[in-house]
Amino acid sequence: MTVRKPEPYRIKMVEPIRLIPREQREKRLEEAGYNVFALKGEDIFIDLLTDSGTGAMSDNQWAGMMLGDESYAGSRNFYNLEKTVQDTFGYKYLIPTHQGRGAEKSLFSQLIKTDQYVLGNMHFDTTEAHIHLAGGIPVNLVIEDAYDTSTYHPFKGNTDLEKLESFIKDKGAENIAFMLITVTCNSAGGQPVSMKNIKGVSEICRKYGVRVFIDSARFAENAYFIKKREEGYGEKSIVEIVREMYSYAEGLTMSAKKDALVNIGGFIAIKDDEELYNKVREVNVAFEGFPTYGGLAGRDLEAMARGLREVVEMPYLESRIGQVEYLGQRLMDAGIPIQYPVGGHAVFVDAKKFLPHIPYFQFPAVSLCNELYLEAGVRAVEIGSLLLGRDPRTGEQLESPMELLRLTIPRRVYTYNHMDYVADALIEIYKRRDKLTGLDFVFEPKILRHFTAKMKPVE
Ligand SMILES: *Cc1c(COP(=O)(O)O)cnc(C)c1O
Repeated sequence: MTVRKPEPYRIKMVEPIRLIPREQREKRLEEAGYNVFALKGEDIFIDLLTDSGTGAMSDNQWAGMMLGDESYAGSRNFYNLEKTVQDTFGYKYLIPTHQGRGAEKSLFSQLIKTDQYVLGNMHFDTTEAHIHLAGGIPVNLVIEDAYDTSTYHPFKGNTDLEKLESFIKDKGAENIAFMLITVTCNSAGGQPVSMKNIKGVSEICRKYGVRVFIDSARFAENAYFIKKREEGYGEKSIVEIVREMYSYAEGLTMSAKKDALVNIGGFIAIKDDEELYNKVREVNVAFEGFPTYGGLAGRDLEAMARGLREVVEMPYLESRIGQVEYLGQRLMDAGIPIQYPVGGHAVFVDAKKFLPHIPYFQFPAVSLCNELYLEAGVRAVEIGSLLLGRDPRTGEQLESPMELLRLTIPRRVYTYNHMDYVADALIEIYKRRDKLTGLDFVFEPKILRHFTAKMKPVE
């Protein structure tokens, strides 16, 4: 028998959550245009919309908030964060930003020349947007296994090294701004990248003179998977693994709303390129703020520094990933199709297989998402054709390669009981899945339509 370890914390403060009655959920969902983005937080029982900025801070982080040094320049909290970043990643220079996209904006503007390619395993959506805004062209080179939900691969976030090398040879290194490895690969379902692959990317890029950076939102979760799944790393500490990962790159962008265990924040770190550091720091003053605060209060910097020390602890990571794996396993045991193996921060239900009778243009994952809210007051999110949108030239609805329902687990917020409740609800729905119907638009916005679309169930 394997003993399931309980969460490695006890509860000192509680935030009540409330399940409103079924009739009210029906009414709220109808008022929201059958789009869970338009629901109010207070009408949600368990919120699995995102793991971004939704985590719980520790008592140690809250204590640190009281030690905020709100000096405009030279806050002691900045120096603590700088030291923490140096110790964790082995990079010399730190530039704080208000969140991850601030880091992307400041760094990319200094690295991209118009019409240059920015290579990646799979860029995150704000990353892709900032590549476009800086005049670049994003390119995804993730391995094909990433698109196959049912076969096991320990590192589905890996870059296809052959594709990478032939792309560089084909287009010429001078037309490539840089390579950005996203760890874990959010857009591929929180799938990790192996050390061997990071090293391989770095070797190919060095050969052709292409710079390598790391999009680091879930760096600790990625290191955990390396420790668990890659030969030769089982005995290493998470920080040792992180330092090796980052030795193969020359800088990073970070959304601290993920693996720095805070509700807001971000940063750029640069290994040793002083010239790049100076350039980025300069623009960052205009976009984000003076170099020692970067759009954040001193107290936020302190919470971030403390969060970065906590996130690399094994009991935390075991519990964090353990919860996600537990939810995935319960669904798999019931025969529910999910992205396998589960990633670090979310379970992705394969709605195409769950609801084969609903075509992509009636958004099967949205239908499942809405049903989960009606059944149990749980909010998840669609990652599929609604998110993908229409072909900008023809106006035709594009068919997403995958129709996924993402159950994103906030850090340190919910317990195994909550996971069981979510699993039980989905299993109930699975039993009567043939009764679910697709959706049609009532109102379809032109851009970022998934946030504000209004829909109705197909008759
Ligand atoms: C969240 C995220 C970002 C953007 O960060 P924000 O803090 O939301 O601005 C960038 N890349 C990845 C991989 C992310 O998960």
